[in-house]
Amino acid sequence: MKILLVEDSRALAAVISARLNSFGHDVVLAENGKVAVEVFNEAAPDLILMDIDMPVMNGFEATSRIRAFETSNKWAWTPILFLTASDTPDNLVTAIEAGADDFLSKSVPEPVLHAKMKAMARIAALRHRLSMANQKLYEQASRDGLTGLFNRRHMDMQTDVVWEEAQREHQPFAVLMLDIDNFKKFNDHYGHQAGDECLRNIADALSNVVNAANEQGTTQGAFVARYGGEEFAVVIPRASPEAYESIANSIIENIHNLRIPHERNADWGIVTVSIGGERLDLPGNKIATIFRTADTRLYQAKEKGRNRAELRGN
Ligand code: GH3
Ligand code: MG
Ligand code: MG
Ligand code: MG
Repeated sequence: MKILLVEDSRALAAVISARLNSFGHDVVLAENGKVAVEVFNEAAPDLILMDIDMPVMNGFEATSRIRAFETSNKWAWTPILFLTASDTPDNLVTAIEAGADDFLSKSVPEPVLHAKMKAMARIAALRHRLSMANQKLYEQASRDGLTGLFNRRHMDMQTDVVWEEAQREHQPFAVLMLDIDNFKKFNDHYGHQAGDECLRNIADALSNVVNAANEQGTTQGAFVARYGGEEFAVVIPRASPEAYESIANSIIENIHNLRIPHERNADWGIVTVSIGGERLDLPGNKIATIFRTADTRLYQAKEKGRNRAELRGN
């Protein structure tokens, strides 16, 4: 375990640290409550051993600050054991009231300390598993099962965040809406399973384009999502006119390069997509308006014969 030991007496801290080290634990030392609060987040300890009487900030205050910090992350609860001079019932009650989970007498015999640390290590392992499972659940809830892209729900949430940021910082903003051409005919001709495979390949191509743009610095924080069915959206915060255009063109080109056979897609013989987009120098309108404009242009791209991007008004 990683243990945050908060103790102002250097002598005592040295003794306890040495014991904990001998049990195989890593110890991070804080000489008072204030230091403990400051290092808590970065140290991310599995357990805190907290002295009560300390200069600058005592153990009660430090504990309530750590607990307040943890409420911003509802899964976090780091076990805190108070180190007390004596294990009287009064001390136990006070410790628990202050947000501690238990207390430990400073004169605890070594085997008892060892046993308590074993019990605490079990809890730490459990907490770790819980937080991993929680993270995985969160991840799954934001992804589309078929393509692995962000789903619509996550896209909407993330779009609100970047949109507000663009408004606050007066940054340009762009959106691309994408729809596979004659995809119903693809399913009819090649079967639904081949259709699913095609969606996955298109999703990968989209991710590649957007990731490359982010990595090259053409865009910052652009992301792609499955909007629904055979439709995808690309959100491009801080989009320069060049970035906006080059992403749209790269998408069309990369999907061509996949050369997925599609006999019934007009004369092309391969899978193609149509794109409608909108870019604003200043994000004044409502976010829904941008999506609506992009959608209207997508419709125009279809009308004009598909396999193209409509990025500007006529
Ligand atoms: P257009 O060029 O005008 O977009 O024609 P289209 O045939 O692509 O448009 P339409 O909206 O008529 O058909 C969309 C098709 O996408 C119908 C539906 O079966 C298919 N589709 C939607 N979601 C999935 C999916 O998850 N898997 C597969 N295989 N097909 C899907
Ligand atoms: Mg003290
Ligand atoms: Mg469609
Ligand atoms: Mg379509």
